[in-house]
Amino acid sequence: MTVLYKADPVRGALWAERFAQLAPEMPFRVWPDIGDPASVRFLVAWQPGDLAVTLPNLEIVFSVGAGVDQLDLSQIPAHLPVVRMVEPGIVDGMVEYVTQAVLTIHRDLFDYHLQQQARAWQPMPLRAAASRRIGVLGLGMLGTAVLERLRLFGFACAGWSRSQHEIAGIDCYAGEAGLATFLARTDVLICLLPLTDATRGLLGRQVFDTLPRGASLVHVGRGPQLVGDDLLDALERGQIHSAVLDVTDPEPLPPDHPLWTQPRVRITPHIASATRPESAVDAVLENLRRFRAGEPMNGLIDRTRGY
Ligand code: NAP
Repeated sequence: MTVLYKADPVRGALWAERFAQLAPEMPFRVWPDIGDPASVRFLVAWQPGDLAVTLPNLEIVFSVGAGVDQLDLSQIPAHLPVVRMVEPGIVDGMVEYVTQAVLTIHRDLFDYHLQQQARAWQPMPLRAAASRRIGVLGLGMLGTAVLERLRLFGFACAGWSRSQHEIAGIDCYAGEAGLATFLARTDVLICLLPLTDATRGLLGRQVFDTLPRGASLVHVGRGPQLVGDDLLDALERGQIHSAVLDVTDPEPLPPDHPLWTQPRVRITPHIASATRPESAVDAVLENLRRFRAGEPMNGLIDRTRGY
């Protein structure tokens, strides 16, 4: 009943420690030290390579991340459940990151930073949070948590998803039919969508031009959802005022990429949030308990939807 871990080895040591404490009966191995391949039942991986095919008795593939776009689902036999990471560490990090990005935009810190460089002391009018309209693309685990926190500041909050949601205090829009209305009322657009065929390239000219002039973008989904040239053009035209980008395409962003030097673009190296080993082990163990009890696992992927 071995659990095999194939991801960052430094974090792997923390996983191993936690597993030894909480489930000493379950052998936990860190790739490439896989031991007897026939005894590996559960794989926890960022990129499993061909392990899902070559391990003969594998029962579940767990992603160490909240998304599964880094997995090649065609390389994972159809009978194996694929489970993404649903744990509080990822949520806490994302709520912190997006909150700082939205407050940076809301309190005009991009413009004050430019003023600082020019040694200019020019107060701008303070805008009430209630008049700033926040819109989150994606009403899943992360999008919902972010909106629930931002709502506490008094921002006017809305979200957009594939299926219709109902969340107290949040205006919910759904599907292609709801997208234009959602965008037209959004001053700060936050992307928390999974990367799928339907969301690749979504953050492009059409979306930017449907936002009110001078809107801002916070992109914390996945790099290939953003059309970089369209963002540069929208910034140039003043259609987009500013952008906070935690994800880019490619990653790392090449040193000569023009986004690096945009005065109103802030770039971070995909650090918005990360799985916290302690709570991640708890989440995996709870899912193993559910699996054995025949209960649905948290974060089970629907392969037809791709997330
Ligand atoms: P989730 O719980 O699966 O939620 C995904 C949301 O996106 C759902 O509301 C879903 O709609 C919506 N959605 C998916 N495809 C759509 C489409 N074509 N049109 C409209 N809505 C669509 O995912 P999550 O845990 O919140 O995570 C979201 C993403 O955040 C991850 O996939 C990952 O890419 C990104 N992420 C980034 C970082 C970082 O450090 N930058 C860290 C963690 C995660 P329904 O509700 O109708 O299904």
